[in-house]
Amino acid sequence: MDEYARAREQMIEEQLQKRGIVDVRVLEAFRRAPRERFVDPEQQSLAYCDRALPIMDGQTISQPYVVALMLSAAAIEPRDRVLEIGAGSGYSAALLGHLAQRVWTMERHGRLARFAGARIAELGLANVTVLRGDGTLGWPPAAPFDAILATASGPAVPEPLRLQLAIGGRLIAPVGADQSSQRLIRTVRRTASDFSEEDLGPVSFVPLVGAHGFAETIAARDQ
Ligand code: SAH
Repeated sequence: MDEYARAREQMIEEQLQKRGIVDVRVLEAFRRAPRERFVDPEQQSLAYCDRALPIMDGQTISQPYVVALMLSAAAIEPRDRVLEIGAGSGYSAALLGHLAQRVWTMERHGRLARFAGARIAELGLANVTVLRGDGTLGWPPAAPFDAILATASGPAVPEPLRLQLAIGGRLIAPVGADQSSQRLIRTVRRTASDFSEEDLGPVSFVPLVGAHGFAETIAARDQ
């Protein structure tokens, strides 16, 4: 086993299993996704640390436990079609690629979108497509989705995302104005017009910037 594989196993055991992540498919996805390939080269030795790490353009790759929590809450099945908002490094999209049939991930920063796409292609994840654009609008050409994950926090759950859920679909999104007051919200579309909402606890994400998110200036202030 190489150095990273050992660190990865330890991360899965200490940070995920011991904190209650029990979904075997989620744990297996973490085993198959090399996090060291998604962090900046100078951060590689920290790849399996229990924290978010800075990536390009003032953004972050989320803490592994938080990603695991979101993936578990989304209850992704092998035949699911999934949309992610906030590709960032591409790490959570790679995990999704191991869990779902088809994944679209959107990123507003062109540079991050290109890097995420390159890493995902290197890993041979042909079922994951990286799109550059405002993810708060969703991706109508591929809707409806069985699961939608937002990895950036907006003022409210974006309405277009709710409407692009399939019946029975799950939307996991952090909501809150600043990093100290965000909550992770799970929305389930029970029928065409009936949505349930559940608060999964406090989280801390970078701002969701877009038509149904924050304005650019607020995001600049928070970074
Ligand atoms: N899932 C990522 C985490 C990236 S942080 C990973 O595993 O690395 C959140 C990302 O959301 C940032 O890259 C940010 O640029 C992006 N983002 C913010 N608002 C967005 C929007 N409206 N549409 C698409 N991406 C957005």
